[in-house]
Amino acid sequence: MGNFDNSVNAYKEAVDLMPGGVNSPVRAFKSVGMSPIFMEQGKGSKITDIDQNEYIDYVLSWGPLILGHADERVVSKLKETTEKGTSFGAPTIIENKLAQLVIDRVPSIEMVRMVNSGTEATMSALRIARGYTGRDKILKFEGNYHGHGDSLLIKAGSGVATLGLPDSPGVPESIAQNTITVPYNDVESVRYAFETYGDEIAAVIVEPVSGNMGVVPPQENFLQDLRRVTEENGSLLIFDEVMTGFRVGYNCAQGYFGVTPDLTCLGKVIGGGLPVGAYGGKREIMESVAPAGSIYQAGTLSGNPLAMTAGYETLSALDQSSYDEINKKVDKLIEGYKQAAIDYKIPLQINRAGSMVGFFFTYEPVFNFETAQNSNLDYFAQYYRSMIDEGIFLPPSQFEGLFLSTAHTDDDINKTLKAVRNAFSKIEK
Ligand code: PLP
Repeated sequence: MGNFDNSVNAYKEAVDLMPGGVNSPVRAFKSVGMSPIFMEQGKGSKITDIDQNEYIDYVLSWGPLILGHADERVVSKLKETTEKGTSFGAPTIIENKLAQLVIDRVPSIEMVRMVNSGTEATMSALRIARGYTGRDKILKFEGNYHGHGDSLLIKAGSGVATLGLPDSPGVPESIAQNTITVPYNDVESVRYAFETYGDEIAAVIVEPVSGNMGVVPPQENFLQDLRRVTEENGSLLIFDEVMTGFRVGYNCAQGYFGVTPDLTCLGKVIGGGLPVGAYGGKREIMESVAPAGSIYQAGTLSGNPLAMTAGYETLSALDQSSYDEINKKVDKLIEGYKQAAIDYKIPLQINRAGSMVGFFFTYEPVFNFETAQNSNLDYFAQYYRSMIDEGIFLPPSQFEGLFLSTAHTDDDINKTLKAVRNAFSKIEK
């Protein structure tokens, strides 16, 4: 292993200052049995930690940095914007510009509201769905993560369609009871839930490609069937595209799969590395949001110039060829992983949609939360630690996907694949 002395010391300090020493739990590296690595700087596809170890980065701040770190176009506009003032609490032109760009690119969005995180986007979308339909229940899928709002932090119980139990102390059961959870890619369970609770369900919320149980794409017709069932039952379909938005493709997952939801939640790439979320959808629904309508939602820093600038510059730098290029690198990465798995007799499933890619250490196909659990976590932890040692920074959890950026080079992929072969060759079975 490399030298991590400064990170280890910084973590010792941090645990006294912040719960678990971090500001978001997955940064604690618990599932791979390591101490957190503190980062100092990033440029393009590379990041450097505070012990001066350099890595090729496949975390990219958990998805937002599709142009890589400190992209010149984003950084120079951010400097310009900062000098003119960071927030006014009054409208600015850059909000119009980003809103127009989002409306142009996302098929379902005719009007949009900016917020500060993905969690805020999904929480707000649920309120709009409930206020608009006059119904209280929400249907979500097991293993889909929609941020930490009370209604969505619900684990599935056993059974086909289960009324939720809170996933965390502090989520009142009375709230959890309004969340129905069913297995991902299982439209029969959705139909069953609608037969049982049909006229009480305000919305079905789904990650159109699930990225929070590892990467699990929708099976054929799953999204189309959800569209049909929600329409038949007067319920709204919400795509949580916080992760997939502007990542899976130029027109997000809804463009990629050709299914248009009623509401869409965005985050990550739309903020280009600054705190941004957004929700939007049909004009008729969005006009029920205050002050156009009566459903309340607000934010002191919502639409602030810095976040809007980072988002606008990031999205403006992307065109179809950016996605084609990233996808080619993903193709090459996948081919290399496949060959390494064959050569070293490692059980490996590869799931992919666009540039969202996930690896599971199992011979069984992974298509929902239950099958994702088949992955050998011990193999993952061994592989993870070897990769860190070789200078490859991956999400420190089996249940997260890898992200690539336009800044990743063929040389990065070659180095990564060399590290993969080395890691697989050393896995103790
Ligand atoms: N929805 C999805 C699909 C996500 O992946 C995430 C975060 O990973 C969220 C919502 C929550 O976003 P945030 O962490 O910005 O609150």
